[in-house]
Amino acid sequence: VSEVPDGIDRNSCLAADMADSLRPLRDRFSIPEGTVYLDGNSLGPLPAGAPARADSLLGEWRDRLVRGWRDRGWMDLPLRLGDRIGSLTGAAPGQVVVCDSTTINLHKLLLGALRLAAPRHVVLTEAGNFHTDLYAASGAAPLLGAEVRRVARENLAEALDDSVAVLLLTHVDFRTGEMHDMEALTRQAHAAGALVLWDLSHSAGAVAVELDECAVDLATGCTYKYLNAGPGAPAYLYVARRHQERLDSPLRGWLGHADPFAFAAEYRAAEGIRRHLTGTPPILQLAVLDAALDAFDGVDVQALRARSLELTALLVDLVDARLAGSGVEVVTPRSPERRGSQVSLRHAQAYGLVQALSARDVVGDFRDPDICRLGVAPLYTSRVEVWDAVEAITIVLEAGEHLDPEYATRAAVT
Ligand SMILES: *Cc1c(COP(=O)(O)O)cnc(C)c1O
Repeated sequence: VSEVPDGIDRNSCLAADMADSLRPLRDRFSIPEGTVYLDGNSLGPLPAGAPARADSLLGEWRDRLVRGWRDRGWMDLPLRLGDRIGSLTGAAPGQVVVCDSTTINLHKLLLGALRLAAPRHVVLTEAGNFHTDLYAASGAAPLLGAEVRRVARENLAEALDDSVAVLLLTHVDFRTGEMHDMEALTRQAHAAGALVLWDLSHSAGAVAVELDECAVDLATGCTYKYLNAGPGAPAYLYVARRHQERLDSPLRGWLGHADPFAFAAEYRAAEGIRRHLTGTPPILQLAVLDAALDAFDGVDVQALRARSLELTALLVDLVDARLAGSGVEVVTPRSPERRGSQVSLRHAQAYGLVQALSARDVVGDFRDPDICRLGVAPLYTSRVEVWDAVEAITIVLEAGEHLDPEYATRAAVT
């Protein structure tokens, strides 16, 4: 077993936390005392301001009834919150709207992009992309006579030929935490004449994203992971301003109409990003998203990224030092520019390991077939929690807690 690097111990982690100017951000969340929460990449924790904001929305509903749509600004929430997410992802105002789920937005944007890029007829994607992205591509493409080309990550560049209409990629891989070079791949796609659609579900709120600067065409992502908007919160989508006039939504609905309350029989798309709305927005959940975004107020995205990298590096170093020979392997890239905000560990009994950790209130998650994911959220994860998590893994593996027969069968939600 190698030594823990540079004399790092629990006390030095505590001391570094105390000295960290971003540490107070954790108070913007209600995280159960004693829980080491490393699954914010699946469901972020409750923002401290969310209950009051939800309560006040319910009060608006009680007091203003239908008038709330007009005089409490409910109707503008999808665009207003879209701009707030835009400021976290490098998008100037007017290019992001909050709506639907990521899956539905993938369908909308893929169909829109395929129409725009005709006669090109291929959706190029990575074979290991998140399954909902693969399903959306396989469902959407045939509707327009297009097809999906799935290739290994390392073959993407060479597969970009003049039949490719859109390159569909997830920025940070959900299994391994590996991060694509958004700027380079976007440039390569453009050089080949293709559009790019990025899924930011594992990026926004944890890694720096520069949509405008990278000249990205289209993007979407969910708000319930690192953006902490709660279970089932709606997703968002980005359409670069230069495409907005020509890119239609294939899912026409009254709220994407230029004048919804004209109740016109003929469809006329709204100007700008608003046309990508379909039906009535989920106002209660949007109010919670608003409170969740308050947790990012005054926070520099680059500083968050730096903190995330420091925490994931600490986690990798501690795993290397303390778990050598235990059957645990770090699968997340070690080079910072290729690493998202999670550390994935491969272990033959990863499912049992995750369950045994959870029994010790260290919450990560399992991804088939043998990955234990430990998500780091720079807004609230601390160094001492990283220390405690690795300590817990050491204890679990040494005591064989992960081999408990109770963990032999898997739950439906992992
Ligand atoms: C979590 C996640 C989604 C979520 O899709 P929904 O339709 O919002 O449930 C989509 N894509 C990726 C890559 C994800 O990680």
